[in-house]
Amino acid sequence: MAEYQKILEKYSLEDMEEIPCGICDGNEFDTLAFKDKRGVPVHTVICKNCGLIFLCPRLSQKALDNFYKNDNSAYVQKIPRTMEEIHASLVRKGMVYLDFVKDYIDAKCKVMEIGCGSGGVLQPFKEAGYECVGIEPMEDYGDFARKHVGIEIITDFIESSDFNYGKVDLVIISDALNHFRSPSKVFFKINELLNLGGKIFIAEKDPVSFATWDNFNTISHFDHLYAFTPRSVFNLLKKTGFFLVKHKDKDKKYWILAERKDIDYEVNFRDCNLYRELKKELKIKGLTWSIKGKIKKIFR
Ligand SMILES: [Zn+2]
Repeated sequence: MAEYQKILEKYSLEDMEEIPCGICDGNEFDTLAFKDKRGVPVHTVICKNCGLIFLCPRLSQKALDNFYKNDNSAYVQKIPRTMEEIHASLVRKGMVYLDFVKDYIDAKCKVMEIGCGSGGVLQPFKEAGYECVGIEPMEDYGDFARKHVGIEIITDFIESSDFNYGKVDLVIISDALNHFRSPSKVFFKINELLNLGGKIFIAEKDPVSFATWDNFNTISHFDHLYAFTPRSVFNLLKKTGFFLVKHKDKDKKYWILAERKDIDYEVNFRDCNLYRELKKELKIKGLTWSIKGKIKKIFR
């Protein structure tokens, strides 16, 4: 039996957990697939309220941590690619990303990538003179980035980490968004990490362009906890205090650049809609409205 099939069998027997929608906390879903593409019995569902696509039930945190720590490398090696090949493809992505964001960031800006792998995406940023730091839980990838790109790497998961690096100006999330257990928590954390005017750049594949609605299992994978469409990313950004700067869809992928809002209040997804409507109403009446602080009085 191939090594990766043994791994699959092991995780098919693991504990599963059920969760509410990661954006709107809703708990009414339609099921799109009952197994992932390799047969692991995780379900892919779509939230009836906000349209977020995610796994529920999904593998427990303990099982997935174990997977990343002990089995991910062996599993990934079913596709025989060397670290150098992986790195080269990340460098190509990094060059495209830099081109996409460069007019919106300062020359002196500090760049952080979450889930940076071998550091390939950050390499063009480093070469263009930006100060770079990567967060990467897999040690062999982090070591490669330190040695070959010459950047600081924090070996950790963003969700459990309490590292103290200081503020940054741009956070990059490339092909990593669907791996977070709680994207909202991560985005609130990033909001706090960013300087005023700081930005977040997200690059992801559009799940809907890869699947048809009746065979969603072909794109479902047990360690992709979410399948973010651009629309769900917009909802997530809105919820966690960002506004959209630039968005592009290309070749079944999308790139989104958003900027941190100057906020110090928490607002949930439904409040956001209501807030927008209220703001519109006030505008029609010719009133101005300072958001900061007042939203608490209105909604609580
Ligand atoms: Zn939802």
